[in-house]
Amino acid sequence: MEKNERIPEIFASRVFSEDVMRERLPKDVYKSLMNTIDTGKEIDAGIADVVAGAMKDWAIEHGATHFTHWFQPLTGVTAEKHDAFLTPVGHGKAIMEFSGKELIKGEPDASSFPSGGLRATFEARGYTAWDPASYAFIKDGSLYIPTAFCSYGGEALDTKTPLLRSMDAINTAAMRIIRLFGDTTAKRIIPTVGAEQEYFLIDEADFKARKDLYYCGRTLFGAPAIKGQELEDHYFGVLPTKVSAFMKELDIELWRLGISSKTKHNEAAPAQHELAPIFSTTNIAVDHNLLTMEYMRKLAPKYGMACLLAEKPFEGINGSGKHNNWSIGTDSGQNLLKPGKNPGENKQFLLFLAAVVRAVDEYQDLLRLSVAHPGNDHRLGGYEAPPAIISSFLGSQLAEILEKLETCEDDDVFNLSTRQSVMLDIPQIPELLVDNTDRNRTSPFAFTGNRFEFRAVGSSDNCADAMIVLNTAVAEALIDFRKKVDGRIAKGEKKDKAIYEVLRELIRKCKAIRFDGNGYSEEWRKEAESRGLDCEVSAPLVLDRYLDKQSINLFSEMGVYTEKELEARTEIKWETYVKKVQIEARVLGELAMNHIVPIASRYEDILLDKVWKMRQIGMTSKSDEELIHLIQGRTALIQELVNQMIEARKVANVIENTRAKAIAYHDTVGVYFDRIRTEIDKLEEVVDDQI
Ligand code: ADP
Ligand code: MG
Repeated sequence: MEKNERIPEIFASRVFSEDVMRERLPKDVYKSLMNTIDTGKEIDAGIADVVAGAMKDWAIEHGATHFTHWFQPLTGVTAEKHDAFLTPVGHGKAIMEFSGKELIKGEPDASSFPSGGLRATFEARGYTAWDPASYAFIKDGSLYIPTAFCSYGGEALDTKTPLLRSMDAINTAAMRIIRLFGDTTAKRIIPTVGAEQEYFLIDEADFKARKDLYYCGRTLFGAPAIKGQELEDHYFGVLPTKVSAFMKELDIELWRLGISSKTKHNEAAPAQHELAPIFSTTNIAVDHNLLTMEYMRKLAPKYGMACLLAEKPFEGINGSGKHNNWSIGTDSGQNLLKPGKNPGENKQFLLFLAAVVRAVDEYQDLLRLSVAHPGNDHRLGGYEAPPAIISSFLGSQLAEILEKLETCEDDDVFNLSTRQSVMLDIPQIPELLVDNTDRNRTSPFAFTGNRFEFRAVGSSDNCADAMIVLNTAVAEALIDFRKKVDGRIAKGEKKDKAIYEVLRELIRKCKAIRFDGNGYSEEWRKEAESRGLDCEVSAPLVLDRYLDKQSINLFSEMGVYTEKELEARTEIKWETYVKKVQIEARVLGELAMNHIVPIASRYEDILLDKVWKMRQIGMTSKSDEELIHLIQGRTALIQELVNQMIEARKVANVIENTRAKAIAYHDTVGVYFDRIRTEIDKLEEVVDDQI
């Protein structure tokens, strides 16, 4: 930041924002574009050239020479290909051009991106399509245009396309609900997300020295440090100078891109930190989160550090998540998950609340699936991480209200006399709830006063996956609600009574998923099982759920994924699972055999030498001899286990079917990791630190 730059001036200074558009576009073009953004309707092709021209001029004024369609293929990271604005015009001259066609559509070669079989090899082309609702921005001399990425046949090859479709689904469904409750003015309903991002910063030299961290993002061995987080002295502690300088620059870079990074603090584990932005529309929040992660990785080396975004870099201390705060609101800013000030508003609030909980109950397996991958599996259920079983925390006040609603015998429950209706007419509900979100950190899906917080999302994830499931599932619950209410009204029931009866049914149905207790406890695991909740722990098996009849129906009816797209996605997830575990197995095997065992043997040799020499002068050393036995026993066991793991890999590698292969990697290869680690960690405690 320059000395006399002020934050309000730098905020979004590199964004082709609404303000810039208003300033630079002809009035009718601006209006038409805004209409596209607000309604999510297709862009009027007639205005594309004008918008592109204005974008180009603005970008060039800000130092850009290139443009790129920026997209989110199924690799988990973003992709971009840069083209110069340059166009030769003969006589050795060139001009800077950018057409509407180039803005709206790109045709990158899709053959090197995962497609899960959606793209036949002879049809390598895919195309990128501009998402006007997410603003273009300038980074490193290029104009970045956020886009969706599809196969030539129109199947989604990215995370953005289904996310936009799911936003559409929940918009349509929720609009019909607020109309039912009498809102005639809202034009659109928007799911919002504030994604708190946790990460580790460690010394770059340490990072590079550790092949496991470098290649796998997590340590595959290493005894616990002498001091961990037991003193709880890191959370909210003073920021170290280097870290503080890093955070400062990070904030400024993000602000320039219009990312409203708001809060930063130390997290619970040593060297762990968190950044929280102010929430925004889901697709924008996802884009911003991806940029945030990119900048974290990119800036850390400047300060001699490496940024670790993996879920569980270190055994024995907290892992990192990405707490997805999620809500739905109207275009005029009314938060539909915020308790109201009178019984009428609270009725609507309770309906949305119950519908969300019902959706989470019905599709708990899909939510679990949306965060299942090897990295996150090491985290879920460990220390501060939420358990791998999905449940929802509402807090005692809301639980009480729901219970009263469920059991109330009076038909006219929403219009009871003041004294009786007190449970629905508590103006202080909002304040009460916000204060009393109770910080139940053990719940994977907690209501926190005016939003839900889905905490199971992994720190390295693209949070779109989880948000797609949530938006879609809630959309279905809302549609179902409206359908039932309409059915009752058609039969002559009064509207209030119909709403109440359907709400009551909803509350009754979503009981199993509600849990306010300690999600970390062993008792909960048992109870969850007896409640019939989904407790599957094997990620490859969790992935099966995408292809359940119920899931296929849900996604296709809501227009979010076709069956073919789901099959492709599942295939890719299994493939990625295999590759990740495969890489870890290779790294672990190599480090164990080429580093750990030789070092232990060298120390063993020193001890043998000592014992032998002592014998020459008539002395014995029982403790040294015991140590030799111990080291020999462990190194032999490590060698044996590594060999077994290699054999298991060979068997798994020839399995053709991706699902079966992923299961084999989970059941027969991954199981060696902890066993080998235990032996290595024990060795670390006795072998000379110097070597
Ligand atoms: P805590 O760490 O106590 O959970 P933070 O203040 O760090 O809380 O993070 C809260 C997050 O929730 C922020 O990103 C904030 O913008 C987000 N948030 C607040 N209201 C909403 C909402 N209506 N929809 C989505 N996210 C929200
Ligand atoms: Mg939080």
